[in-house]
Parts: sequence; C-alpha cells; structure tokens
Amino acid sequence: MAASTFPTTTMFDWYDRHGRSLPWRHRWPDLAPAYHVWLSEIMLQQTVVTTVIPYFLEFTRRWPDVCDLAAAEQDEVMAAWAGLGYYARARNLHRAARIVCGEHAGRFPDEVAGLRGLPGIGPYTAGAIAAIAFGRRSTVVDGNIERVLARYFAIATPLPAAKPEIGVFYDAILPSERPSDFPQALMDFANAVCTPRNPGCETCPLAEECAARHAGTPESWPVKAPKKIKPERSGIAFVAIAGDGQAFMVTRPERGMLGGMLAFPSAGWTQDDAAYDADSPFASAPFAADWRLAGDSVSHVFTHFSLSMDVAVAGIEDPGPATDWHRVRPASLPTLMRKVWTVARREV
Ligand code: SF4
Repeated sequence: MAASTFPTTTMFDWYDRHGRSLPWRHRWPDLAPAYHVWLSEIMLQQTVVTTVIPYFLEFTRRWPDVCDLAAAEQDEVMAAWAGLGYYARARNLHRAARIVCGEHAGRFPDEVAGLRGLPGIGPYTAGAIAAIAFGRRSTVVDGNIERVLARYFAIATPLPAAKPEIGVFYDAILPSERPSDFPQALMDFANAVCTPRNPGCETCPLAEECAARHAGTPESWPVKAPKKIKPERSGIAFVAIAGDGQAFMVTRPERGMLGGMLAFPSAGWTQDDAAYDADSPFASAPFAADWRLAGDSVSHVFTHFSLSMDVAVAGIEDPGPATDWHRVRPASLPTLMRKVWTVARREV
C-alpha cells in the first residue's frame, strides 16, 4: 500500500479527542521543555508510563532543570532512580546532564545529530526529543508505532529486520504540520486502540484502509522472528545483619549489571562472576560468618536472562569498621536487591 494513503488528519482528530494528558506533554503549537522530554524518554525506555509518572514528578521536583540534576551527586541520582531498573540509564542521564549544563550552557542540542552525541541517547530518543521538544520532522519509531505501521501497511518483513523499512514508511507519512504531536498521537493510538492483543478494529478510525484488518488477522503483525529461549542463570546474595539492624553492603562496579548501585554482595550470576555452585554455596561469601541459606530464593527476569538467586543470611555480633554497614532503605535498592532483602529479613 502506498504510504500516501495514511490518514494523518484522522489520526490528529483521534488524538485531539482521546490523547493522554501526561506530566511531560504539551500540545502543538506549544513545545514541551527539552529537559522534560529527555527525562521522560530515558525513563520510558523499557518502562511503562504508569511506572514512570511518579519518578518523573519526583525528579522534576528535586531537580527542576538540567543544571540542578547536573549538580546532584551521582549517588543521589542512582538512589532516586532505584526501582526503574536498567541502571546504566541513570548513570548516562547524570553524565548527559553534566555535559548539557557544562558544555552547552544548559541547552539541549536541537537536532538529531547533536542529541546523538550525548550519553544514553540513541536514534529513537534523539528523534523523539528533536520532534517533541523542538518540532523537528525527525523519525520517531518505537515499538508501539512499529505495530501500527506494520499492521496498517501489512509489512511482511519480520522484526527486527523490518525496522529500517518501517522507518521509511514513517518518514513518508510524517506530515509537515504538528510534527511534535504526530509521534505522540501514534503512540497513544497504539496503546489505546491498536493494542498488541485484541486490537479495537471494530471502532478503529483507520480500519477502512488498514491492510492487516482486511487480511482478517491483525494480530499477525508485526511479523516476528522466532523467539530465542531466554537463558537461565543462578547466583547467591549474602545478607549480613548486625545487631543494630544495619546490613553489609557494597557499591557495585560502575560497568555491568546494577552498575554503581549499593547492593548486597552477590556471586555467580553476572558474566564476570565464576558460575555459582549450589553444592558449596558459601564459597564466595564476603567474609567468614555463620552463613545459612534462607528458605526461599528470589526469581528475577532481566532482558537477556532469567535469574534464580539463593539468599544466604548471617547475624553478626560485632560488625567491625562501620563504612560498609548501612541502614537498608528498600526504596533505594534495585528491584532484585529489594527482593533479596524481603527474603532475608524474614530469616534474621
Ligand atoms: S484496524 Fe485494527 S489493526 Fe488496523 S490500525 Fe486499526 S486497530 Fe490496528
């Protein structure tokens, strides 16, 4: 189907009636502040809108502009990010804030190439910021937009190979009017109507020309390459609790899983760890103590693998030097470690 057949006016009509109000969103001809668009887009990578909203509100309350965020300590930013996952995003966020504040006088670059030079900003995020904050006619194709376009045009190439092709369709239908609203309209439409399962074709304003709807099996698009089975890993976390309730914790290396986060010592589950041997579970304990295994283990799913983590606990009479002992604040822990703490505190 020719891209020229896409009914952009219908899409804008739908958006004007049904588009979501979101704390970072403005409507054309108003453009949202680049700081807000950037922050929300980084938070929304791999995370749903309802989870992001309270984090966005808290970040913008504590750090109202990018230079406030740049001036924060990295530990503060990491702790405020805790629970959103994918912690490299938070480190890059902080680095990017320092570059924007220090090298660009607090102003974000206003086009894709300049935005791509900032840490943590890939092609999608650069396109989204350029379009939504600066009104540029840039390519903005996330998983939601992919779904709508793959269905509407019945794109037969499987994902992810279809991404460039879908980008070409997007560029072809991108109107010259309301460039900041267009991707947001498509995203909201994908969420509300053209959903992954049970798309609302019966009442869809695009139904007349939608190729997937005419084929009778809209859920067959986007075509997906066969799924790889997620590998499973196992590991162990060590929770030592002193008489005053403080726990032994370490800051994880900057690079790698949960990088830079305060966490319980653990072993066996990252690519840099030696494999976990359940027959000698305490071999990699951080120090000698009366370790015992908790009755429950923790399950957690990362993008690339599933993890089953045993939890070793020990009560410590005399914790020694205080630097590594911390009052545990679950809200500041990465989700995996929050689960570990929940299991451990039942035992000690
Ligand atoms: S008709 Fe169905 S498949 Fe096509 S765009 Fe509308 S909701 Fe999506």
